[in-house]
This record gives sequence, structure tokens and C-alpha cells, in this order.
Amino acid sequence: MNSLKQHFQLVRNQIRAAEIAANRTIGSVQLLAVSKTKPAEQIAAAYRLGQRHFGENYLQEALIKQQQLAAFNISWHFIGPIQSNKTKPIACHFDWVHSVDRLKIAERLSEQRPANLPPLNICLQVNISGEDSKSGIRLEQLPELVKQVQALPSLRLRGVMAIPEPEDDYQRQRQPYRQLYQAVQQLNQPSLDSFSYGMSGDLEAAIAEGATIVRIGTALFGSR
Ligand SMILES: *Cc1c(COP(=O)(O)O)cnc(C)c1O
Repeated sequence: MNSLKQHFQLVRNQIRAAEIAANRTIGSVQLLAVSKTKPAEQIAAAYRLGQRHFGENYLQEALIKQQQLAAFNISWHFIGPIQSNKTKPIACHFDWVHSVDRLKIAERLSEQRPANLPPLNICLQVNISGEDSKSGIRLEQLPELVKQVQALPSLRLRGVMAIPEPEDDYQRQRQPYRQLYQAVQQLNQPSLDSFSYGMSGDLEAAIAEGATIVRIGTALFGSR
């Protein structure tokens, strides 16, 4: 068995074990394979193993790979920082955007989403570790931005995304996720059904705290 196949089996087993440990429904957590810096051939190989959702951070790189893989039925997720002059290709070529952190970006994505495509699925990126340097809104800004983004016609607001500070301790990994999950529950909006958090190093903690999409790169494709 080749190593990509082993890695996928390992991560899928890890997700399943975490779902069971957290009393979550099996299959309720979606694996988003983060393929940034990896060639189209590796995406194709993962596709043949049944993977359909892929996450990319760098727009130019993603557009090239999308062309190379046009024959595949892939769901593309944009998860990287967004410059406002780059929203058009994102609106045209992706199914999901996880990294929306201001209204202006959301407005542009909505305006530029082609009319023949379904609404673009959106997660709002929240800075749950609270460092100044990271992108993402503060938790206090969430209710207001949720309201504003929900009013945009060509977007479908699905939930939140977070990238906390790396942390080794399992209980401390859980803390910011719990806080974010509770903040979304308080909004009491069933349409906010997506919690995009958990990476290679902390997917168990994320799943224990309600993650519905884990974004995994290294554990699947190896180091970058
Ligand atoms: C690179 C990246 C990931 C994947 O991280 P790994 O540690 O390689 O699993 C997930 N989310 C975002 C936003 C990333 O940029």
C-alpha cells in the first residue's frame, strides 16, 4: 500500500475515533484535504482514494491546479488570506471560502459570484487566540458581521473558521474551540452549521468541541 493511501486511512481512522470519543455521529466531520504547495498529481491520487474536498491558500497556484484537474468533480475551498483585488477569481472558481474576515470582502464576493453558480458557501474567520498579528475578527464582532453577511444575496453563510495558536496540551487546545462553538450557539441560527477548525496537530480537540470540517495538510500529504 502506498503512503498516501496509508495517510488517508490513518487520518480517516483518527477522525472516526474522535467522533466516537466525543459521542458525535460517525461521518459528521468532513475531511478537507489541504493541498497547498502540492502538485495536481497528488490531488488526483487523493481523489482516486475517494477524497472530494480540497483546500487551497494561494490563489494563483490554485487556479493552475484547477485547470489541470478540470475533469475531476472536486469541491474547492479557499482557505487563505484574501486581498480585495483578488475576490473575482475566488468568487468564480471556488465552492467555499473559509477566510472571510471583513464585510468589504464578503460584499465583493457576493457581487462577483456568477449568476449561473449556486451561492458561495462562506465561513467567517475568527481570531480566537486574540493575537494582533493574525487575521480574523474578534469574537465580539461576530454577531454584527453574521447579520451583514447573511443579507448578501449570492453568499450562503455557513459558519466559522479558526486557526488558533499551536498548543500541545489537549485541554488547552480545546479551550478556544469551545469558546467559539458556544458563541455561535448563542446566535441561535440553525443555518450556521459549519465549524471549520482542527488541523493535523489538534483534530481530536477540535472534534471534541464541535468541528464539522477539519483542514488537514501535513498528515495527508507530508511536510511542505
Ligand atoms: C496549511 C493550512 C492548514 C493545514 O495545516 P496542516 O498543519 O498542514 O494540517 C489548515 N488550514 C489553513 C488555513 C492552512 O493554511
